[in-house]
Amino acid sequence: MKFIPVSEPSITQNEIASVVKALKSGWVSSLGEYIIQFEQRFAQYIGTRYALTTSNGTTALHLALQVLGLRQGDEVIVPDMTFVATANAVSYTGAKPVFVDIDPETWCIDPQSVQKAITSRTKAIIPVHIYGHPAHMDQLLKIAHRHHLYVIEDCAEAHGAEYQRKRVGGLADMGVFSFYGNKIITTGEGGMIVTNNLQFYKKAKFLKDQAMSDHRRYWHTNIGYNYRMTNVQAALGLAQLRRIRTFIQKKRMIFQWYKKWLGDFEGIKLNSEQNGSQNVYWMVCLVLEKNFWISRDQLMRKLKAKGIDTRPFFYPISQMKMYNKKSKPINSIARSISQRGMNLPCSVNLNEQQVMFICQKIKEILTKASRRKP
Ligand SMILES: *Cc1c(COP(=O)(O)O)cnc(C)c1O
Repeated sequence: MKFIPVSEPSITQNEIASVVKALKSGWVSSLGEYIIQFEQRFAQYIGTRYALTTSNGTTALHLALQVLGLRQGDEVIVPDMTFVATANAVSYTGAKPVFVDIDPETWCIDPQSVQKAITSRTKAIIPVHIYGHPAHMDQLLKIAHRHHLYVIEDCAEAHGAEYQRKRVGGLADMGVFSFYGNKIITTGEGGMIVTNNLQFYKKAKFLKDQAMSDHRRYWHTNIGYNYRMTNVQAALGLAQLRRIRTFIQKKRMIFQWYKKWLGDFEGIKLNSEQNGSQNVYWMVCLVLEKNFWISRDQLMRKLKAKGIDTRPFFYPISQMKMYNKKSKPINSIARSISQRGMNLPCSVNLNEQQVMFICQKIKEILTKASRRKP
């Protein structure tokens, strides 16, 4: 069998036709019909009043944080196990990311750890719906309300995931999405901010486009950014958005296949889905039990040799050089799960035969490894 990647985009004639139309229209930069339509349809899909395209998910996060007026000395609480962009965007504003531990079941930010990390300098919390599972929003919103904190949902991995029957992104002050090539839908590079707050929307829109005055062209009142998406990318995004329900159904089906062929194998755990949450299984995840005979990295190497690609879980950001402060407590759950977790192939193009093949190989490796052990 040929090499199976962890993730590849699904691009059909629809996407190609849409992009060609955008190119032929001449509107190749950030003005154009596709930008307007993509924003409208995306807001509709998530269920928020406003949506604003950006150049990528990191700039969407940065803009959302700038909208809150964060400054040097402010603190923003983020989960320790996430993609580094969540923390970096906080740093761009001059504020400090404060890393807290994760829930051992959902792998999302742990509300109790958030509560403990709040100080007089805390301004916001960024829950990340990691690998497609919603964070514990009820508890987080309660804590935020009690302490007058903003909440920005990082939905980069969870387009269409539901929490108590509502799509993530519209549950708090702002929601932020990414359309990188491996996300649920893609624009190549791209991002989106969604919100119900008109002031937030207006300010983000203003900052995104060099903070130009509404009344006078080329007159600027702030230091703004160029965080714009192009009309050509939006054309791709719009075509992808039309297929999002199919993508999510397929992701959920792929997970069911893994569960069927691997689910009750001893010593491993797959993604969870909590009551009241709908996981979109952006990534199918496998976590080895503690002190398993084979290490995560060994298993990954052996799978690679059989033509199966995998990715390690994100490493705790608090352990990386630029964020590592000696006095900081270690987030032990994040550290432990990060060491034992990996992402398995889960492109929407996969079929059950391929998933069976992958599961078979995993079982072979794990059985052999255990047999060798005295
Ligand atoms: C992908 C991702 C981002 C950033 O998105 P880019 O479009 O790559 O800038 C932010 N947060 C999380 C959790 C992500 O997975």
